[in-house]
Amino acid sequence: MSDGVAAVSKFLTWSVVDGPGNRFVLFLQGCNYRCVTCHNPHTIGVCSDCGTCVAVCPSGALSRTSRKVVHDPGVCIACDSCLAACPTRANPMVRRMTVEDVLVLLRRNAPFLNGLTVSGGEATLQLDFLIDLFTAIRAAPELAHLTLFIDSNGHLPVDGWRRVLALTDGVMLDIKAFDADRHRRLTGVDNDLSLASARLLATVGKLHELRFLLIPGETDRPEEIAALAALARELGPQTRLRLNAFQQHGVRGPAAGWPKMPRDGLEAAAVALRAAGIAEVAVPSVWLP
Ligand code: SF4
Ligand code: SF4
Repeated sequence: MSDGVAAVSKFLTWSVVDGPGNRFVLFLQGCNYRCVTCHNPHTIGVCSDCGTCVAVCPSGALSRTSRKVVHDPGVCIACDSCLAACPTRANPMVRRMTVEDVLVLLRRNAPFLNGLTVSGGEATLQLDFLIDLFTAIRAAPELAHLTLFIDSNGHLPVDGWRRVLALTDGVMLDIKAFDADRHRRLTGVDNDLSLASARLLATVGKLHELRFLLIPGETDRPEEIAALAALARELGPQTRLRLNAFQQHGVRGPAAGWPKMPRDGLEAAAVALRAAGIAEVAVPSVWLP
């Protein structure tokens, strides 16, 4: 989808965990990874209007009109039964938003905001919209104080980044794993593009933060932590790392039965990274029991 229109799974008018300061966050629908540990799996797929979810909706919020499945937010009770029923991990509640739709929301909330973060799904899958949106914000004097960030898995070639980087203040980049086989097993794709993206973004000064999800027995292994430290050192002393801990919440499939990352394991990884010379290592400030 493009021509100034995006498929949006959700937006937040205010967040303090999606980049620096108070941020408006736009979550775009669709992802090019198939992470087994995804805690928002309904953001991965693109709706094919198959109609499977219409029958499970208890409130009549979903209906078919000719070839399309239509969602009526006025009667939706947000039970998420449709998300569980979808065979392609899509979401019938996805809305189509224009650049102007987003600008209206940003103007309304601008006095309380430091910036906008576009996340996903995978934000860069809707690159044309991203460029149109950032270009429009840069041209709006009343929004000049907003910083523009992208939250990405980095699966975008250099030519794609070149189209958007001049408009972007920073990128928060997920690295899912360093071992190539492990990365393919956890995400369904290779990690060569995301590693190349980390190097490109650091070189041009647009890498705000590297994010790494610790999964027990997988990405918390010493060789993964050592590879993370080596990449952070290579990218330079300004590199910020954020460690996240695997939780089962929202996960579907076999990984829903995997153990969650224990707090002492996460803290041990942070200690190892600091001992390896990485100055900025952030861990979650709130720990779910
Ligand atoms: S959201 Fe899923 S189940 Fe519903 S119509 Fe779209 S593809 Fe089918
Ligand atoms: S969340 Fe989905 S299934 Fe539940 S009421 Fe809304 S549209 Fe229907």
